[in-house]
Amino acid sequence: MYNSGMNTLLKTRFAPSPTGLMHFGNLRTALFNYLYAMRHKGQLLLRIEDTDLSRSETHYTDSILADLKGLGIEWQEGPYYQSERQAIYDNYYEILEKKASVYPCFCTEAQLALTRKVQLASGQPPRYPGTCRQLSVEAILSKKAANIPFTLRFEVSNEQKVEFQDLIKGEQRFDTSHIGDFIIRRNDGSASFMFCNAIDDALMGVTHALRGDDHLTNTPRQILILQALALPIPQYGHFPTILGLDSRPLSKRNGSRSIQALREEGFHPLAILNYLARLGHHDTDMGLLSLETLCEHFDLSHISSAPAHYDPAQLNYWQKLAMHQSTVAECWQQFSPWVKDWVPEDKINAFVEAIQPNIVMPMEALAWAQALFGEKRVLSDDLLKVIQEAGVPFFNTAIQLLDDPTLTFSEWMKNLQHSTGCKGKSLFFPLRAALTGALHGPELIRILDLLGIENAKSRLAEAAQYAQTL
Ligand code: GLU
Repeated sequence: MYNSGMNTLLKTRFAPSPTGLMHFGNLRTALFNYLYAMRHKGQLLLRIEDTDLSRSETHYTDSILADLKGLGIEWQEGPYYQSERQAIYDNYYEILEKKASVYPCFCTEAQLALTRKVQLASGQPPRYPGTCRQLSVEAILSKKAANIPFTLRFEVSNEQKVEFQDLIKGEQRFDTSHIGDFIIRRNDGSASFMFCNAIDDALMGVTHALRGDDHLTNTPRQILILQALALPIPQYGHFPTILGLDSRPLSKRNGSRSIQALREEGFHPLAILNYLARLGHHDTDMGLLSLETLCEHFDLSHISSAPAHYDPAQLNYWQKLAMHQSTVAECWQQFSPWVKDWVPEDKINAFVEAIQPNIVMPMEALAWAQALFGEKRVLSDDLLKVIQEAGVPFFNTAIQLLDDPTLTFSEWMKNLQHSTGCKGKSLFFPLRAALTGALHGPELIRILDLLGIENAKSRLAEAAQYAQTL
C-alpha cells in the first residue's frame, strides 16, 4: 500500500503515460523529480498513467521502466498502474455526484468540435459552453435509457480565482470564467488524465509535482477537483519544455530520438543524465558528475524561465567526456557487444587503452578491432596514394629496423626518419596507412604492441607490394 503522506516526507513522482517511447522531455521530468527528491532526502514515486486503454501499450511501459533502471533513476515507491485503480476513481465520482459538482454530458465529439471552431473563429478561447449543464433529470434519464454515451463533466463556477505559488514560475492566477466545465470521466467510464492524476497525487501523498509547463493550464482544474473533494493539494512546479534548435517542439525532424534508441546505440547513462541535468537547469560545474553529485547540485531556482533547446552536439560532448573518463573495465563492457568476436582475450586491456581516446561511441570500436585483428584491410585511394608516395624503400627500411630487437619504439622511428629522410606526416601517414588502414587513430606505439612485430612486418611488406605495383 502506498505511503499516504500523512508524515512530512517529501515525495515527488514520475507519472508517464505509456503511449510511446520515452524521449528527452519525459526523461528530464523523471530526472528533475528524482534529483529534487534525493536532494531533499525524500522519495520518488512511479505511477503509470494508463487509463487511456486505446493508446496505452504494455511494451511502452516495459521500455520506460528499462530506461529508468538503465540510467540509474531509482524510484522508492510503485510502479502503480492507474488501470488497476478504477474502483478508487469510481468512489470519488460518486462523492462528486452526490455533491452535484458534476453532470453527465451527452455532446458528441462532432458537436464539440463545431462549437470550438465557432468560438475560435469569433476570437474566443475554446471552452465548453455548458450545453448539458441545464439538462433536466428526466432528460438525463431518457438519454441514459436510450444508451447515448456520456462523459462526466466537472462544473466550474464562473468568476472565481484559482491561485497557487508555482515552485518554478512563481505566483499563478487563473480566472475560472476562462476554464469551462471539463471532462473527468470518458464516455467509456475510464478516468480522464485531469482527474486520476490529481486524485492519485493526493492519495499517494505526493507533496511536489514537477512537470512540463504544457500542464500549467491543467493545474487550476486539478486544484478545483481536489478542493471539491477536500483532498490535499501538492505543490506544483512547471518547467519550460524542451524545443529543438529550430525552436519547434522536439520531434524526429529536429533530432529528437527515443531514450531506448540512444541507449541501444551505446550512449553512456552519465552522458544522458549530465546533459539533461544541464538542459534548462543551470550548473556552474561543467564536469561530468555522478548522479549523486547531480542531486547535490539540483536547485529549482536554477531552472531557466526560457525554453531549453536540445542540441545533439551537446549530448555528444557529454558522451565524449563519459567515454574518456570510463575505466578500462567499463569501456570493455560497452565495447564487447560490438567487438568480442574480434579481440583476443589477452589483448583486451591493451586494445581498450589504445582506442579509448579516439572514440566517442562504443560501436566505433568495431572498426578498430577489424582494422587491428582482421585479416584484410580495404585501402581507400587516399591511402594507396600515401603508400605510393612513401615508396618501396620506405617500407623495406621500416621492416629491417623492426628486425632489430634492441630498438625501442622511439629509436625505431628515429632511425626510420634518419634513413628515409621522411618526417612528420610523411613519416606517420604511410606507417599508419600500412598498419591500420587509416591515417589517424591510436598512438603508433600501442598499435605496434597490439599487432605484434611479425604481423606489423607483414603489413608493411604488403604496403611495399602495393607501392611497387601502383
Ligand atoms: N501522464 C502525464 C504525462 O505523461 C503526467 C503529467 C504530470 O506529470 O502530471 O504527461
